[in-house]
Amino acid sequence: MEYISLKENKIKKVSSHITDFLTPNFIYVPINNIKDLRLKSGDYIYKEQKILNEYSPVSGHFVGINYNSSIDSDKLLTLVIQNDGKELYKHPKKSNNLKKFNKENLLSTLELNHKLFSKLKDIKSNDLVIINAIEDEINSASKIMLLDKKADIILKTIDTLRTIFKLENIYLAIKNNDYNSVKKIIAHLGTYPNINLKLVPNYYGLEDNLNLKNYLFKNNQNVKIIDLFLIMEIYNLLKLDKITTKKYLTITGDNVKTPKVINVKVGSLLKDIIATCINLKENKDYVVIANGLMNGKIINPNTFIITSEINNIFIMKNKKVEKAKECINCGLCYKFCPREINPKYLNENKNVSLKYISKCNGCNLCSYLCPSHIDLNPLKKEGLK
Ligand code: SF4
Ligand code: SF4
Repeated sequence: MEYISLKENKIKKVSSHITDFLTPNFIYVPINNIKDLRLKSGDYIYKEQKILNEYSPVSGHFVGINYNSSIDSDKLLTLVIQNDGKELYKHPKKSNNLKKFNKENLLSTLELNHKLFSKLKDIKSNDLVIINAIEDEINSASKIMLLDKKADIILKTIDTLRTIFKLENIYLAIKNNDYNSVKKIIAHLGTYPNINLKLVPNYYGLEDNLNLKNYLFKNNQNVKIIDLFLIMEIYNLLKLDKITTKKYLTITGDNVKTPKVINVKVGSLLKDIIATCINLKENKDYVVIANGLMNGKIINPNTFIITSEINNIFIMKNKKVEKAKECINCGLCYKFCPREINPKYLNENKNVSLKYISKCNGCNLCSYLCPSHIDLNPLKKEGLK
């Protein structure tokens, strides 16, 4: 297979200033069911109070139950909290010295966060750990902005992980055309000489952990990859004793006057963020896409809430979809597939084993490259995405 860079498009670059949206009037916390909910309207909820399987990102009053949507669900049961803006914790939080952590107390602290716990629990000292700071979407800058604003904290946390797990090889992977991040990280690296900077070309697909592993260390079985955003979650839990309740979100697109990165509360309604922070162009015929122009999902901003996995939102003028034509056997779709599968073959043959199809990560590069505009993404076809 070969790698390819995406073409620049006409969307304006994001502003270098971050906008805050940290005190929305209402916050929506996803819940699995209401039968186990022991709250009545008006009850007070502290920040980080556990509500079934989730934690409240704000303090305020419980006002009711709602249906919202998320990247995984078009009908998501949520608990609505009227934010009092006080950020009140039930128990005071204390700052910790990162040096006090060893593997045991680190893992017991991270047990609060299943995603982090499962990522870190199996790391061994002979593993090669890569922190993935790559963003595939050329118009998104959530990770770039995080590297810019929090470089020292990020490197300190990576170095803490290196010490705790006695790692000899730990890398921070950044795109080599992300000049600002490279400059910022290099300026701090003198303090952290044991962290290696790994610059990778601006190829599409390397944000995906498996693709990045295959690109950098294909035959090494001992590679573990941690996403940059998780590093911030680790820092918040270890150093600040806090759950991560905000995140950087890029809002961009050809129907946005000034694309920007917004520091938002998790659980905010996208409609509220757009109304407060975004100037839309006059055009009323637009679509809203979450997590990427290439392989994102069209969403309804009136019901959509921001969860920890949302990195960018595109607001795009509604364009006519090109009609698919016949395959011209150009070979582009399989030449560049990062998972080395043949989407043309999958498109033309039924009864292909699910095992083969599930190698696909749904990146959509095949459909993007196809000059005949054939929708090739096998996961979409199988209803898996
Ligand atoms: S969507 Fe799947 S088949 Fe198409 S390029 Fe991506 S990984 Fe390959
Ligand atoms: S990219 Fe499109 S036209 Fe080219 S081989 Fe694949 S399906 Fe056929």
